[in-house]
Amino acid sequence: MRIDIISAVPDLMQSPFNHSILKRAITNNLVSVNLINLRDYAIENKQKQIDDYAFGGGAGMVLMIEPIDKCITKLKAERVYDEVIYMSPDGELLTQKICNNLSLLKNIIILCGHYKGVDERVRQHLITKEISIGDYVLSGGEIPAAVLSDAILRLVPGVLNDETSALSDSFQDNLLAPPVYTRPAEYKGWQVPEIVLSGHAANIDKWRHEQSIARTKLRRPELLK
Ligand code: SAH
Repeated sequence: MRIDIISAVPDLMQSPFNHSILKRAITNNLVSVNLINLRDYAIENKQKQIDDYAFGGGAGMVLMIEPIDKCITKLKAERVYDEVIYMSPDGELLTQKICNNLSLLKNIIILCGHYKGVDERVRQHLITKEISIGDYVLSGGEIPAAVLSDAILRLVPGVLNDETSALSDSFQDNLLAPPVYTRPAEYKGWQVPEIVLSGHAANIDKWRHEQSIARTKLRRPELLK
């Protein structure tokens, strides 16, 4: 899978892709992530502009359509994209189900907004999907794009060491994950439940499933409906 992320400040996103699981996935060529600087497509005037004041007035700059169009057009000339996603607080709320579906795609573009956002015509004519990471507003689409990319890429086969591991995480099967423990079995008198020390795999699986259901009922009952 390949993700091209278009941003006015691509450096903001270096770190998430340069460490740990995602770094390994990229190094091993399981996935590729391209950070594209929108400024490379700035309009050819003296200021090398990518943004301008909003028509009609009001505070805040708006990313212009021309640089974004030039950038997306160039990418599309090189390969076929399954989705062109705009990160936006008024987009569809990101869920594990959306991540599962997106992880099956081959090439996607993610566009990060900045300042007040992007010219509405970008959204009308160039974007195929709009995603929000939650009901709050961030300064730019870079952190949302990194969140989306991480959530998708860890589902690509081979990215996680233990391939079953993503399946036992929260929200798969509409359940929250059960509690986990590691050494020592007792710390300051705080005990690990006997069952997880028993070595009896079937009983442990059963206990974990029960814990998942109990935790979901308590914390997120709407998931069980
Ligand atoms: N004026 C816009 C917010 C702009 S915030 C509004 O009120 O809806 C600047 C950029 O940050 C947005 O263009 C978007 O790309 C990104 N962004 C901010 N919050 C986000 C969220 N919750 N989910 C996804 N992207 C978000």
